[in-house]
Amino acid sequence: PRKVFSGVQPTGSLHLGNYLGAVRKWVEMQNAREDVTICIVDLHSITLPHNPPVLRENIFTMAATLLSCGIDPAKSTLFVQSSVPEHAEFNWILSSLTTMPRLAQLPQFREKSRLVKDVPLGLYVYPVLQAADIMLYKATQVPVGADQLQHIQLAQHLARSYNTRYGETFPVCQALIEDGNASRVLSLRDPSKKMSKSEANPKATINLCDPPDVIVQKIKKAVTDFTSDITFNPGKRPGVSNLVNIHALVTGQPIKSVVDEASTLDTAKYKERVADAVIEHLRPIREQILHHMGKRSELIYLLEVGAEKARQQAQHTLSDVKQRLGLGTSN
Ligand code: ATP
Ligand code: MG
Repeated sequence: PRKVFSGVQPTGSLHLGNYLGAVRKWVEMQNAREDVTICIVDLHSITLPHNPPVLRENIFTMAATLLSCGIDPAKSTLFVQSSVPEHAEFNWILSSLTTMPRLAQLPQFREKSRLVKDVPLGLYVYPVLQAADIMLYKATQVPVGADQLQHIQLAQHLARSYNTRYGETFPVCQALIEDGNASRVLSLRDPSKKMSKSEANPKATINLCDPPDVIVQKIKKAVTDFTSDITFNPGKRPGVSNLVNIHALVTGQPIKSVVDEASTLDTAKYKERVADAVIEHLRPIREQILHHMGKRSELIYLLEVGAEKARQQAQHTLSDVKQRLGLGTSN
């Protein structure tokens, strides 16, 4: 049977890249009656310096946001990673199955380790914990953005080496990456980078809960180039092409018709149009976020129910793992 798993860091609120590249796909798969598990990966969020009260708030914001995007806890399993201790335990076990050189060459590690002077071990091991997340639930499909491809390949490698050493246990998961540009929405301030939660400049990302006037300002200030007409050429004109891409994704139109309709507009006018389309698309989601944010005890309850479902599967997998590795005393 297919089993879908994906994770999201409670680093800040979801941005348009997360939504268009990953979360939208999760909701589609859930509504197609796939077995979907979504994990708010707080243990991953402490791999860069963090503020504890902010992290706690962000966990609830993330839960509220996922519900608002259409994740339905009656259909999917939604929970917080640290509520299921097996993730950290399995991470330790898997870390003995991989090598340091394999982790050192991963692009996310290289990018993020530039953000700190002394690189935490956790940042290095990050993709191993991610493999543990996936494997604990024996996931077969992992819908993610394009930036996660190498990490999924590590998970595939770990599943294969585990199976070879200790016996056939884990499916080799498949990365589901949205084709085309949805899998990579770019930063509004630097279109050579992807839009990121951990980006320091708030003007670089559009968050799902940004109010309309903030969205207008951010898109107005988006870095483009000195040509004023609207064309789609991601290689030569990444800034404008990113706006065209976002516009096409939120309206559901093909790139070509978006470009054709913009033929009489200059960049400034076009930005207003893109902002309007984004605002319209996000309006219902934003309203829902504000609604769910006011219901803290409901969020706590529903995350605990999700954690209970997840724990049962995780415990089952891990007790088999310990058995096969000769850990502990029980048989
Ligand atoms: P951080 O900068 O803290 O790593 P992030 O923006 O990369 O945050 P994650 O929580 O790491 O967000 O990723 C959640 C999901 O969103 C992943 O599947 C990831 O591939 C996807 N994703 C992240 N950024 C983008 C983007 N700019 N375009 C498309 N998908 C994205
Ligand atoms: Mg990321």
